Amino acid sequence: MCALSKDDWLRRASKLRPDGNHFIAGRSMASLDGRSFDIVNPATAAVHSTAARGSAQDIDAAVLAARRAFPAWSGMAPRERLRVLMDFADRIEADGENLALMDTLDMGMPISNMIDGEVPEAAGIFRFFAETIDKLNGQVTRTDVSAFNYILHEPLGVVGAITPWNFPLTQAAGKIAPALAAGNTLVLKPSEESPLSATRMAQLFIEAGGPPGVFNVVNGLGAEAGKALALHMDVAKIAFTGSVAVGRKMMVYSGESNLKHVATELGGKSPQIILADVGDVDFAVDCAIHGIFGNTGQVCNAASRMLVHASVHDEFVEKLTALTPSYYLPGDPLDPGTTLGPLVSQRQQETVLGYLETGRQEGATLVFGGNRPAAFDTGYYVEPSLFTGVDNGMRIAQEEIFGPVASVIRVQSDEEAIQIANDSIYGLTASVFTRDLAKAHRLARDIQAGVVWINTINESDMTMPWGGVKQSGNGRDNCLATMYSYLQTKSVWTKLA
Ligand code: NAD
Repeated sequence: MCALSKDDWLRRASKLRPDGNHFIAGRSMASLDGRSFDIVNPATAAVHSTAARGSAQDIDAAVLAARRAFPAWSGMAPRERLRVLMDFADRIEADGENLALMDTLDMGMPISNMIDGEVPEAAGIFRFFAETIDKLNGQVTRTDVSAFNYILHEPLGVVGAITPWNFPLTQAAGKIAPALAAGNTLVLKPSEESPLSATRMAQLFIEAGGPPGVFNVVNGLGAEAGKALALHMDVAKIAFTGSVAVGRKMMVYSGESNLKHVATELGGKSPQIILADVGDVDFAVDCAIHGIFGNTGQVCNAASRMLVHASVHDEFVEKLTALTPSYYLPGDPLDPGTTLGPLVSQRQQETVLGYLETGRQEGATLVFGGNRPAAFDTGYYVEPSLFTGVDNGMRIAQEEIFGPVASVIRVQSDEEAIQIANDSIYGLTASVFTRDLAKAHRLARDIQAGVVWINTINESDMTMPWGGVKQSGNGRDNCLATMYSYLQTKSVWTKLA
């Protein structure tokens, strides 16, 4: 629970002196060429801080530090590595108000969501993977010849992580935690929209007793620092979360360099399917509102396509229209009562307003929203918006908008719902609302998605794999299996005769 008032947060924000430098080999460092860039607070449209603008030289220095730190970290007793990561998790929580403030100022997430969601979740990710460290075993196996055979799981080496801005802390934690728990060292290039919490986390890692060079941060732009990291010959794996367009580049960079592993978590256009026998329409509406408007729609799994059976369509739309303003009203993200912050940047605001115009031109009916909110002419706000009469072939139904814009598509049958759900380049998540559980499981089987929710939405848990199919990416976050994606096997044979 967020115990501080808006005035408290404003006071803290005015005193915050964040370190936007790189963090390499245990030290805060400016860019070697001295360059930096401004960070704009999206709620005020004013510059609130600066960060170092990394180049290939800074990436070289960070990768070298990570290479040097690798033998000691990968060779460290599992219990000791576990202790460091547990201590790190505690420090993230203890420093939570600071970290939360940095991300809210950088990218506009309401402070309550940071305090109640992002901070404890990030700490939880570190605890989950730390707990696996002393429980991962190799394997003894039998072959057809007389030999003693065993399989070792070994860390890959230096991992490069490149993350987006929409959940800065948990997106970074989702890469750092399994990589370090598996014994790799790491260079993180956070989004240029939300860099500050990354450097702070790297400082906390050192305070937790983490060896210098194990966890490094290079700030900067994607096409500069990010590209240099993804092309680096000494990076064994890139763990990437972001857009399809940049995910595509990651695969190319790998092919052009050392064929490094590439794990991608990309965009989505998730269907929320409301069947005729939904039963509790109010509950489905509640889920829909949270599913699309949370984090101002800047969520990879946003339920942006609502496929609603004709028999409940009008009731669903009416209730959604009536209830949305009581759940999501724009406000200052430093006010603990705010549920809807601004979009991350002016560019994102222009993109979303552009899609609202596209929807109108494509002939969809705008039921509510569609503009900047009247009371917020500074800051990058957009109203929660709903289109009906949407055809799945329209751009607003096919392309990821990444803003608070929902499209309702009327369907006549379960089969049509499945067909439309799958008519997308994406396949990240989907949800199905029905009282008929057998039918729900059939849809869960037939829908092309990495995650399917039945009569719920947007749940996640560390024990459940997270990731997509098709162009939503090939990687998985959370879960024990993710640990193995940061390890490689070695087969050892000893002839017995
Ligand atoms: P983005 O692809 O623009 O940027 C992501 C990261 O890649 C940033 O750090 C950026 O600096 C870097 N980058 C950009 N160009 C690069 C290049 N040429 N070489 C190397 N790095 C480069 O994405 P974004 O706008 O930051 O984030 C939004 C996207 O992320 C959406 O598509 C969203 O769906 C996706 N996302 C997916 C998940 C998931 O779990 N599948 C989670 C969160 C966000």
